[in-house]
Amino acid sequence: MPSLHSHATELQQIWKGQILWDCPLARFSTLKVGGPAEAVLIAQEQEGLSRLIRWLNGQGIGWQVIGRGSNILVPDEGLTGAVIILDGELAAIEEIAATDSGRLLRAGAGASLARLAAYCTDQGLTGLEFTVGIPGSFGGAIVMNAGAWGREIGALIESVTLLDRQGDLHVIERPALKFSYRRWENFAQGIVLSAILTVANGDRQMIASTCREYAESRRRKQPQGVASAGSFFKNPAGQAAGRLIDEAGLKGTKFGGAMVSMQHANFIVNTGTASARDIFALMREIQTKVFDKFGIRLEPEVHILGQNGN
Ligand SMILES: Cc1cc2nc3c(=O)[nH]c(=O)nc-3n(C[C@H](O)[C@H](O)[C@H](O)COP(=O)(O)OP(=O)(O)OC[C@H]3O[C@@H](n4cnc5c(N)ncnc54)[C@H](O)[C@@H]3O)c2cc1C
Repeated sequence: MPSLHSHATELQQIWKGQILWDCPLARFSTLKVGGPAEAVLIAQEQEGLSRLIRWLNGQGIGWQVIGRGSNILVPDEGLTGAVIILDGELAAIEEIAATDSGRLLRAGAGASLARLAAYCTDQGLTGLEFTVGIPGSFGGAIVMNAGAWGREIGALIESVTLLDRQGDLHVIERPALKFSYRRWENFAQGIVLSAILTVANGDRQMIASTCREYAESRRRKQPQGVASAGSFFKNPAGQAAGRLIDEAGLKGTKFGGAMVSMQHANFIVNTGTASARDIFALMREIQTKVFDKFGIRLEPEVHILGQNGN
């Protein structure tokens, strides 16, 4: 695959946004591991981004998009090509219509869920309280169909604006969107730019109080102040991955600086010195031990980057 470095001059001509050369991706991952991307490109608006995608494709240079890096595992070797992060107009939040019972909001995929939930609380809009404490972007949440407390982001989405792998724009309306557990099922790759979501009118005090309860509950149940990607494995049908890992006796198991949290067995935490290699080794150990004991193959919820040739 051609290197981005060998096209640096051309890139600087066609791309007006920020370029972070040889940028360690650990900086952009909540697990705090991962080697460098050749370049991290911060996209502020759609037209420039479409142009960039076409140019990268034309040069045969690989690329991928990340959000807040709260559900990714990046190898220590890093990634060739470009890693794109959305900001500016692509992280804006605006109200586009009021209905009898609520509002339609358009949010850029780069907006953090925290900012979106805070916006809704301020406006007395209910529906996003469950996202409190999920440290992702709106775009990442759509791709992952992020959820908590029995609610999922997919249920709120009216339409998604997507830039496909060729750099062409599409708007996908609700009937064509299929979400399932931690997955936008018919996501055909590309970059989620923004989406329209419905939120309902509610009582501001009650919304704020629900948010506080959810935040407090997370503080009690989940490890605090340590690097992680949240739940590392998906729950197998009818089972809780954390319980299986706990009952396989794996709490506290360590590989280098990676450890199965003592507090929540489905969290792999970086105790400060972990490499991606440590996390991969621990992941495989957990999968093996759980399979040996229960005959169940745990599937990572975390997206492992660099597995598709990039
Ligand atoms: C402490 C902690 C608690 C968590 N709790 C929860 C929880 O309760 N529920 C839950 O569901 N998750 C939880 N997570 C996981 C994570 O926060 C969510 O999956 C979140 O939605 C990921 O968003 P992100 O922006 O960080 O995505 P990233 O991790 O950056 O990316 C995840 C995947 O989405 C893709 N992606 C990101 N943005 C885009 C885009 N704009 N267009 C196309 N593809 C994109 C990436 O390529 C990657 O494949 C938790 C994580 C942590 C660290």
